[in-house]
Amino acid sequence: MSRFILLCSLFLIVGCKENQTKKIPESPRRITTIDSVKITEVIERKFKTFEGLADTTFVRLADFSDGFVYDMRYATENNFLKAQVYECAECYTRVKTAKALIRANNEFKKKGVRIKFFDCYRPNSVQYKMWKIVPNPQYVANPVKGSIHNKGGAVDITLVSLEGDELEMGTDFDFFGKRAYHDNFDLPQEILDNRKLLKETMEKYGFWSIRTEWWHYNLSAASNDKIADFKWDCITNN
Ligand SMILES: [Zn+2]
Repeated sequence: MSRFILLCSLFLIVGCKENQTKKIPESPRRITTIDSVKITEVIERKFKTFEGLADTTFVRLADFSDGFVYDMRYATENNFLKAQVYECAECYTRVKTAKALIRANNEFKKKGVRIKFFDCYRPNSVQYKMWKIVPNPQYVANPVKGSIHNKGGAVDITLVSLEGDELEMGTDFDFFGKRAYHDNFDLPQEILDNRKLLKETMEKYGFWSIRTEWWHYNLSAASNDKIADFKWDCITNN
């Protein structure tokens, strides 16, 4: 009798374990569902869309793409002014400029490179700050007239490898001299090829360059926009 009870107990224990085993496959499925929801949320939170935004709205480029590299020099003292004129490093442009930059960068990426920014939209009040330090129109646009940077239509850029290594362009950003000129062909072929790739691709997506700065590009469609003094929020972090 006692053996019978023991056998019954064993059967119950095994039976319970079997019941537990049967439940196991359901849990991972639930976790997977939760994970995929989480992943979707992260993606949705990470990138905004341009839907419903006017072409002239100011946007933070990093909210729309993670394909760019940033080295915002005016948020440091590592620039020709030797002064930090931005409170924090951010790259804002008008929507139409951001769209053109993303399109250009997609083409660059197919060729194994991508855009690295040195400067983007620059509030007009910062232009005044720069003018106060260097009041010379040869180096700084007069803030009264403003620059296309103040319109959210100009960017200072170079190309980097997908890993982030800068391509050789012959000079650093904001080097003022003949070596930075587009029409200076007295440079190693590699530099000329890199500049050509940058210039031709940017032109294809609606940008034009100025003769004396290989890094500066203006969006043609931004020429008639107004000088702005919108200031970005320094609390934003990636
Ligand atoms: Zn510039």
